[in-house]
Amino acid sequence: MARRGLAGDVAIIGAAVLIAAGVLVAVATPSAKVQAFANELTGGDDPPAVPLPGPPPRSSTAAPTPTTAVQAQLTVQTDATGRVVGMLPRTPLPSTGGSSPLAAAQSHLADIAQVWQVDPDTLRVADVRPVPFGTVVRYQQTIGGVPVFGGQIVQALAKDGSLVSAVGKTARARSGGFPADTSRTVQAAGQKAVTATADAKKLSAKDLSVQSTDQYWWDPTLGGTTGAAVAKPVYVVHIRGSRADQQWSMVVGANRTDVVQSWSETREASNRDVCDARRRLVSGSLASVRCGTAFPLVRTERSGSTAGDVGSVFKFFGDAQNFYARFTGLDLTTLIGADYGDGTGKAIRGTVRVCLVGERCPFLNAFWDGEQMAFGEGVTTEDITGHELTHGVTQHTSGLQGGQADALNEGMSDVFGKFIGITAGDPNDAGANRWSIGAGSAIGVIRDMRNPQRFQQPDRVNGPFWVTDNPDPHANDGVVNKAAFLITDGATFNGRTVRGLGVTKAVQVWFGVENLLTPRSTFQDLGNALAVSCQANLTAGVAGITQDDCAQVADAVAATQLDQAPQ
Ligand SMILES: [Zn+2]
Repeated sequence: MARRGLAGDVAIIGAAVLIAAGVLVAVATPSAKVQAFANELTGGDDPPAVPLPGPPPRSSTAAPTPTTAVQAQLTVQTDATGRVVGMLPRTPLPSTGGSSPLAAAQSHLADIAQVWQVDPDTLRVADVRPVPFGTVVRYQQTIGGVPVFGGQIVQALAKDGSLVSAVGKTARARSGGFPADTSRTVQAAGQKAVTATADAKKLSAKDLSVQSTDQYWWDPTLGGTTGAAVAKPVYVVHIRGSRADQQWSMVVGANRTDVVQSWSETREASNRDVCDARRRLVSGSLASVRCGTAFPLVRTERSGSTAGDVGSVFKFFGDAQNFYARFTGLDLTTLIGADYGDGTGKAIRGTVRVCLVGERCPFLNAFWDGEQMAFGEGVTTEDITGHELTHGVTQHTSGLQGGQADALNEGMSDVFGKFIGITAGDPNDAGANRWSIGAGSAIGVIRDMRNPQRFQQPDRVNGPFWVTDNPDPHANDGVVNKAAFLITDGATFNGRTVRGLGVTKAVQVWFGVENLLTPRSTFQDLGNALAVSCQANLTAGVAGITQDDCAQVADAVAATQLDQAPQ
């Protein structure tokens, strides 16, 4: 069984110790260690770090679970800091709550809490989503009722409710708390975020507005950043500029109002509505590009133009919709469609031939603005449209955001954009262009998934062109792309020979990943999620995935060095 190097250090821990009832857990309790570590690293004016409460001790009189015998072993995966990032039982752990996904997930919660050493009462259900291998149930960690940003544990359940795997990570200690004077500090955080964004983007602060301010606990190490593994209170401020492609999230400390991290929220979408801006110059605000209100519908499911960009976008929307429905059972319109009250209901919407103030016209780009698609001119290829719509899917599933997770977000969009193009039989996604992004568009080929180095992108973690501190998420996503190419088509790369699984199986492995990642997942988490997804699909018998297929996935992970911590 190839489970080598899934996520850094891999420890095999006897499940009889961890899971069988009646025995108090023998995993090192983090309290003392975490406390010392946190004190060492925080210092300054920060309040001392306080370990978060662990799970309640197991009663020695509790009845043993009926399956102790088969729970002989499970793999607990930890990252470089010793944080638990996954558990993979040798055989799925049966549900004691029946096959209803939520009840089954709740029945596994106590075991998971023991492995992660987290109080199960601080985990709340965030999402229950059917997938081809069964169901994923996503839990959000909270401290005092406030969510920990990226603190999530995702259960991969087979159709009978048994636990195939759980992945994710949680904060283990906190420092300080939220100020009592909430309205004043929220206002100060918003002000700070506006000023910092204006400075960084060279924009006027008066053109920026605060859309929302949400309370979170923020542990930088959850996203793969080095530093103290301590959650601190922050406000995540969502800022908008005057254009729909100007959206940022700023993480601002709740006490010192320093900017902790920031990222762009704009991502370059049945029921399909397409509008034609005919190169009319617009400000680019969300309202100014809305298809159905700012611009009249020129193509709907019932009627309209089939020519030019309008016709292609309409077809590509349909191909994306069909792809997700056929391979994953996902209804794209329900998941990411928008209803603007124009009588067509919830629809995947796109406005083509948009020209934006301050940009050249024709506009040679496309973006997902969180509600709908905006396209320039001639950029509407199958893979680019699939890329943009997948940003909408990611927004509603893993929620990848910021830092390494941003590059993973771009990678997932490239991967699914390409799968959509290939399965639709698009000529720009075939032959020599099978793995190139953008072929046939006005901007030409911009990335090569088979050979990322051709466009100065890394093809392995820490390899050539790997960037450690790079604000452009389209750089390191080359590693994600290379891994997808290897898993689908196979090749000899970096000392490993991978036999490709073919598109049908590869889609299932990657769709599992899309649902298993968490908002602050790292490249190592991706490597782990690939293995877990393959295992979950194997267990469920999806697409005929075999043990040997999962060994190929493990080899692809090793070849792209997704099992290494980024340096
Ligand atoms: Zn993108």
